[in-house]
Amino acid sequence: MLEPAQKKIIPYGVLEPVPKKNTEAQELSSVIRQALRETTMPSVEVLAQDFLDVLAVDAGLKPTAVIGFGYPMNNALDRIITLAPMLGMATSMSHPWQASCDSEDLPSWYVETLARLYASTPIHIVSAIPASLNALMTDGSPLSPEQESHSLAYPSCCVNEYHRRRHAYHLLTLDMLARQVNGDELRMRRLVQSGVAMAPKDEAETTALLWATRTNFAPCTSIAMCGACAADSDSPARRISAQFRRLADRAGLLPFLSPI
Ligand SMILES: [Zn+2]
Repeated sequence: MLEPAQKKIIPYGVLEPVPKKNTEAQELSSVIRQALRETTMPSVEVLAQDFLDVLAVDAGLKPTAVIGFGYPMNNALDRIITLAPMLGMATSMSHPWQASCDSEDLPSWYVETLARLYASTPIHIVSAIPASLNALMTDGSPLSPEQESHSLAYPSCCVNEYHRRRHAYHLLTLDMLARQVNGDELRMRRLVQSGVAMAPKDEAETTALLWATRTNFAPCTSIAMCGACAADSDSPARRISAQFRRLADRAGLLPFLSPI
């Protein structure tokens, strides 16, 4: 069991495999349900989705789950992270990664400022295969979309479109910031650090910003669907979604998840 002192950020560490104990997956489901019932975190569906991803790792449906992004450590998250190693999964804290394509063509000051901001919001990685953790965390280089797709078992079409949207978002952000302060880099940097709201100049820019920031999750998954997957009931993302829905149903998690 992890002691609190061990839960430090290991940005790009390499974890040893944890011997799997003879514990039933049912135990994990039961701990998860109890943690969700008892949590005081308002957005329980976010926790529930993260925990379903951990169950999917335990069930062999995906090599790695990234959980805890965008919300602080809490009792429910702590319980699952503590239990996961006892079920043979490796866990670690890391900084949210950036895909290599996200920062293409972007100024280095912008990429560095974002990296510092991301460093203040650690994530938790749960993996069935320590080798996949190694691939994620080797030398601090941004992941390629292929590595991300493989590690998280997301369809590559969805991962690629997600990063096209992220890249478009960054370019739009830079255009809008430059407009606000006449291209003064120092002031642009300060605006990025303070998380200033974007101000589109016209309808075309508003439409572009909406496209860049819209996220359409496949139900019961953390997959941001591409347009093609969203439009097809038998697409890769939809098939994974159906699989995860069955897992959620078996584990009694459907009442906690976002309405489907
Ligand atoms: Zn897709």
